Amino acid sequence: MRISPHELQNYAQLVSGDFEGLLTLAEITNKYHFQSTEMWAANVLYQCLENPSKKCLLNATPELLVRTLNVTMLFHHEKLRDFVVGIFIDRVMNHKIPPLLALTVADTHSLSTLQGAAYYTQLLDLEQVTSTRETSSHAMRFGDHNGFTQDQFAHLLHGHWALVHLWDDLRNNPVAASCTCNRRGCSDIWYNASLHRCKRTWSNTHSADVLGKLRKIRTYLRSDGITDSMSEPCQKASLSALAEKIIDLQDSLIDYFDFTRPTTGVMDEEQTE
Ligand SMILES: [Zn+2]
Repeated sequence: MRISPHELQNYAQLVSGDFEGLLTLAEITNKYHFQSTEMWAANVLYQCLENPSKKCLLNATPELLVRTLNVTMLFHHEKLRDFVVGIFIDRVMNHKIPPLLALTVADTHSLSTLQGAAYYTQLLDLEQVTSTRETSSHAMRFGDHNGFTQDQFAHLLHGHWALVHLWDDLRNNPVAASCTCNRRGCSDIWYNASLHRCKRTWSNTHSADVLGKLRKIRTYLRSDGITDSMSEPCQKASLSALAEKIIDLQDSLIDYFDFTRPTTGVMDEEQTE
C-alpha cells in the first residue's frame, strides 16, 4: 500500500468532521512512517480534542476511549497524551469506565496516574459494596465479578490501609495556611476552621476516600465565610494550597497502592518504626 502525503491531506479534509476517521488517519501516518505528516496528524487530533465545540469524545464508548488512548500513545506529543490520559482519569473516577479496563490500559502503557485512579475508584466501589451488605465474603464476590487478580487485590487492601492512615494524619494535621501577612491571626483562623471541619465531620468514618473528604473541606472553607476574617491574599493562597494538595494526591495515588514504592507522610514514619 502506498499513500502519498498529498493523498493524506485530501483524506484529512474528507474526515475532518469525523473523529474516528481522524484516528484512522493518525494510525496510517504512524504505521507507514510518514514522518513529515505524523506530527501534523497528531496536532490535528489534539486540536480536535481540546476544542470544546467539536465535542470529539462526547458520549464516547469505553472502546473508543481505549482506541483514542492507544493511538495517542503512538506519538511523541506530550500535550496530546496528557490530555487524553486526563480524560481517561476523569471518566474512570466518575464511574464512566470500568476500573479494571482502565487498569489494563494503564498497565499496557505504564501510566501510573491512571493506574492510581483505577485502583482508587475500584476501592471506593468495594467500600460501597461492603457498606451496603452485611457479611459474607465480599472479597470473593469482588474478585469473581470484577476480574481483579490476587496481586491486584492485595494492592487494593494495601491502598485501603495506607489511605485510612493518611486521613488519620491529615485530620489531626490539616494542610497549613499560606499566610504571608503575618498579622490578624490568619494561620490560626485557617487551622481552627480546618481542624474543626476535619474532626467534626469525618472523625468516625473509616472510608479511604481522602480526595472526597479534602474536596468537601475545601468547599466548606471556600463558601461558609468562616475564613473571611483572614486577609484576602492569604485566604486565596491557602485555598490554592489546599487545591494543590488535592491535585498532588490524585497524581500520586498509585504510591498508596504499590507497596514496592516509597510512600509519603505518615507511611514513611510507620515504615521506619
Ligand atoms: Zn495572613
